[in-house]
Amino acid sequence: MAIKNKPEHDPISDNAIVDAYMRWALMAAEEVAGKSGLAIVLKQSGLETFVDNYPAEELRVSGKVNFGQYANLSAGLFDFFGRAGKSMTLRIGRLSAKYAIEKQSALFGLGALVASKILPLPTQIKMGLEAMQSGFRKLYGEALHVRLEDRGDKFAYIDEACATCAGKQADAVMCYAFTGALHEALQWQTGKTLDIVEVECRALGAPACVWEISKTPKE
Ligand SMILES: [Zn+2]
Repeated sequence: MAIKNKPEHDPISDNAIVDAYMRWALMAAEEVAGKSGLAIVLKQSGLETFVDNYPAEELRVSGKVNFGQYANLSAGLFDFFGRAGKSMTLRIGRLSAKYAIEKQSALFGLGALVASKILPLPTQIKMGLEAMQSGFRKLYGEALHVRLEDRGDKFAYIDEACATCAGKQADAVMCYAFTGALHEALQWQTGKTLDIVEVECRALGAPACVWEISKTPKE
């Protein structure tokens, strides 16, 4: 996949990201690429400042890290892994969601979700996605532009200010890290593997990144 910077400045790149999200992405990337591999990615992506220097594990937006840097990491990992870019960034997204689930349980009300396993699967999925979006809303406030749509046999998770591709243009959808995070979170919650596909991406000029999540489990 060819990923470049957008010719015009993307204002979303300037949005600040939750400190812990960059930390977890870096920890997950280190687990997959190795310490020296990640150091190469960081140096090639203008992120030298993060070599051996991860942001604090804090669920707040300190303003120290922005979406543009997060997107540089995701694009840099694609470059580094070449043809394995999709599967590796998907895996990194899953791993970083593991850290997130552990640390955000209270803020996102995850205990109640696990207790919802008795409900029909589509209801569980909807509750999970809603909990995720309202958790992000608590952290980001006004800067967040996410919503859910019911599309019959699928739910659509719509993000008009996606951090993974902020400021980037690509020749295909590129936000596999978030696809992986959705997989991990919903699998943890429901115990089921669902079909999750990013169907639109801001990196392709769409107004939002959109993921469709099946309401029935994968065969
Ligand atoms: Zn995106």
